[in-house]
Parts: sequence; C-alpha cells; structure tokens
Amino acid sequence: MNKPTKYIFVTGGVISGLGKGITAASIANLLKSRGLKVNLQKCDPYLNMDAGLLNPREHGECFVTFDGAETDLDLGHYERFIDQELNNKSSLMAGKVLYNLIQDERAGKFDGDDVQIIPHLTNAIQQYIADASKGFDVHIVEIGGTVGDYESLSFFEAIREFGIKYGLENCLYIHVVYLPFINTSKEIKTKPAQNSLRDLRGLGIQPNILVCRSENGFNNYRIIQKISLFAGVPNERIAILPNAKSIYEIPLLLEKFGIAEQVVKLLKLKATKPNLKKWQKMVDLANKKFDQKINVAIIAKYLDNADTYISVFEALKSAALWNNVNIEITWVDASEIESGKYDLNDLKKFDGMLVPGGFGTSALEGKIKAAQYALKNNMPYLGLCLGLQMGVIAAARNKGLTKATSFEIDPGSKEQIIITMKDQKGKEQTGGTMRLGNYFCKILPGTITKRLYDKDLIVERHRHRGECNPKYTKFFEQWGIRISGLNPESKLVEIIEGIDHKFFIGTQFHPEFKSRPTLPHPLFVGFIQSMKS
Ligand code: GLN
Repeated sequence: MNKPTKYIFVTGGVISGLGKGITAASIANLLKSRGLKVNLQKCDPYLNMDAGLLNPREHGECFVTFDGAETDLDLGHYERFIDQELNNKSSLMAGKVLYNLIQDERAGKFDGDDVQIIPHLTNAIQQYIADASKGFDVHIVEIGGTVGDYESLSFFEAIREFGIKYGLENCLYIHVVYLPFINTSKEIKTKPAQNSLRDLRGLGIQPNILVCRSENGFNNYRIIQKISLFAGVPNERIAILPNAKSIYEIPLLLEKFGIAEQVVKLLKLKATKPNLKKWQKMVDLANKKFDQKINVAIIAKYLDNADTYISVFEALKSAALWNNVNIEITWVDASEIESGKYDLNDLKKFDGMLVPGGFGTSALEGKIKAAQYALKNNMPYLGLCLGLQMGVIAAARNKGLTKATSFEIDPGSKEQIIITMKDQKGKEQTGGTMRLGNYFCKILPGTITKRLYDKDLIVERHRHRGECNPKYTKFFEQWGIRISGLNPESKLVEIIEGIDHKFFIGTQFHPEFKSRPTLPHPLFVGFIQSMKS
C-alpha cells in the first residue's frame, strides 16, 4: 500500500452538469485498474443533511449505500465505475457538517472561541475528508457545484488548506471546464474556461490537470496549447473530451490522453499496468448492434428529469448488453394510464415492463393497472420496491379483491395489502427514518428467484416504509403469486414472483443499486432473458 494516502480534488467550472462526477469516477476506475486502493467522496454544498428528502424530479435519483446513507446519484456512478461499495462517509452535504458543528458548539467543545467559517467549518470539512480516506492509496473528492458559487466557497477553502496541511506533493487538483463550440464560425471558445480558471486561482487553487468538455475538438492540439498557456498546466496534463456515446467510454478516453499516467507520476504512486480488458469489452458490447432489440416500458411517475431512475436504466442496459441484445427504454407516464389518456392496450407493443420505486399517492393507480395488465397478459414484469407493492395489489385485485390498496393510496382503508410497520408510524415526512440500507433475504427453494440468484441467502439495499401486510400473505398463492424471498429475522416479504407467469418478479429492495456495468444484477439478467427470443 502507498503511504500516506494521496488526495485528488475534482472541481468544475463554467457550467454545472459537465460530468465532474463521471470524470472523478473515471479517474478512480483507471487508478483501480492499476492495482491501487481507491475511494471516492462527494462534497455537496446543499444545506441538507443528506439527499433523502430532496425531490427526485429536480435532483434525480436518491442513491442508497449499503449502510443506509441516502446520497446524491453521483455515488451510484462511483460504485458502478469502480465496482466497489461506498459508505455514508462518501457523501458529505454541507448540512451534515454544519449540524454537527453547531452540536459541538452547544456541547461547549470550543472553549469559548468564536466559531467561524475559517477555521472551524473548514477544519470540520477537512476532518470528514481525512476520515473517509483512511486505508486507501488514493482518495478522490468531488466538490459539487461550480467554482465561484457562493455556496461552495467553504469547500474550496477547505481543500485549498488541505493541500497545505497534507503537503501539496500528496494532493492533486483537477479542474473540469467547458469549451463551447460556436457552430457558425466553427470555433471552440476558451474564454469561459479562462474565467473559471481565474476564479479558481482567486481562491488560491492552481489546478494540476485540466479536463475540458467540448462537443467538438477531440485532440485539438492548437486548443490544448492555448489552454495550457493561460492555465499554467502543461499540454500533457490536459484532456479534451468530446461527447461520448456512453459515459462508460470516458475512462478509455482519459486513458488515451494519458491522464492516469500523469496522476501516477505526479503523486508518485506505486501502480501496475492498467487492466481495462473487461471494461473495454463492456464498452464494445454497448456499441454493438445485435440481432434482437427488446422494448421495455418504464411505468414512471417522475418524468421531469432523465436521472430520476438512473441506476435502473444502467442496470437494464448492462443486463441487455451482456445478453447480446439491444434495448430500447420508453417512459410511460403512470398518471396517464390512471386517467385513461394512455390506452392500456398500447402496452402490447412492449416486450416487458418495469415499475420502479416512488413515493406519494400520485400515479399509483396507473402503476397497479399496468401490473394487472402484465399479470393477465403474461408480460414480463419487474417491480422495484413500489413496483412490488403495486404488483401484489394488482394480483389481489385481479382475483376479485377490488378494494385492495396500500397505506399510501388510502391511509384509512381496512384492506391495506401494503402497510407501514409499527416503527414507521408517524415518521412519514421525516429524514433518515425509513428501512434503509442492507438487509438479509432468504431465498426460497424451487422458485425462479432461486434459479436466478443461485444462492440461499442474499443481501440487498432498501429504502421504504411500506411492507406486505402479514395478514394477507396466506392468500398470495390464490392470487397467482408466491413469496420467493423473506427476511430471516423479521419474516417480512422481500421478493414475490408470479406462479405460472413468464416473469413476474417484485422486490421490496432496490437491486439496481448493486448492479454493475461489468456484472449486471441477476434479477435484471433474468428479466432481460425472459424477453429474449
Ligand atoms: N413509497 C413506498 C414505501 O415507502 C415505496 C418506496 C420505494 O419505492 N422506494 O414503501
């Protein structure tokens, strides 16, 4: 192991949404492929404690770590890019730092000092970074937002000081900027990047490496030279990334620019030659045209943001490519199914449907109708969390229990097939109180689920309040479904599957969080295979 831990700080400029997270994850991927022990951490300037109460319509998916942290979706990218489970320390929102700082102040831990942004808040941030990095060769920290944001100033100051305290030879600063391409004059413009670099230097940080996003200009030497001059960064430490076909190509593009080699050199890391064979194979498969294309409908309720179900999409895509089929994913608005605007029979054109997770009452009746359709028409169905709950209600309703419902749809109903457990009552609007993170699940023999997992005991990540009401589980088989996974202690239902159905599986947990681009989750693989001819 390399000692001491080396740090890489990834910041962004010009505009948000440039793929700073993907850059950080790609560099981690390249270093891990060189035999290094790598960790990733995201610092977010939001004054929230975590991402649990953020609206997915605006913020995208809430990713859950094995230890139950509700985090920014970038952590999902991190895990997928380095095939490694991260923990709650990998997600740091400003609210968490401030909350703990004020608690320390109330506990009298500052000996009468004024508590200030510098040094108290910045020290606290540095402490979180140092804590998260323990035991790793390289710890990569992404700073959310863009340089110059008022909100992220304390994080920029913290990482500047970090370099001084831990030694600049142990720290690297990578800045990700945008180079707009002006179509009329066919020119790449560097001025916004220059401004952002000036802002960064104004905060006392001189980047060591630059990653420039541009729609055009891959390997444009003239541009690299120009940027090098004003940035004070040598040519060989600048990469220009054009829009890639898939995010998984980014590590390979950065590798072509020799960025990881630069990192190894600058941080004096003991690294092996990179092994990117499996990654390269996955990228090749992702770009391949296969004989079959399968069409999957996502029966969604959050349609405003392409990132709301990002882990689900990634899991579907990787399961498809490793099974040699192309996949087309279509969003179907569950509220339009509910209102009748979307004709249920139009679902016929799909090979299968997936009902993802979600919260609140809206669009649930539409999801139930879709699940009823899947059951009646022997159409492959994968239900994730809310998708299991709506699937069970659908099965009950199809067999005549027309009033079957859930705690979310009708909190006063006596026929709640899905209920909240006692320990969840009264916590409905609160943060960090759901059934979160890893729980064991015993797989029952003789089931399709068992065939797919090929294990008796698994562990999966949760994020929900509702559970199958134990009062009704004895009717499952009459409704055409059976339990195929149970929590060994609480006996809560974890997985159900259709009896005499091509593929009807619902999970109370979120398997998408554990799926990897190079190793798709078995349930997603089973779902894809059920649609393959
Ligand atoms: N809203 C449901 C519950 O809390 C489902 C949650 C989810 O899909 N993650 O149980």
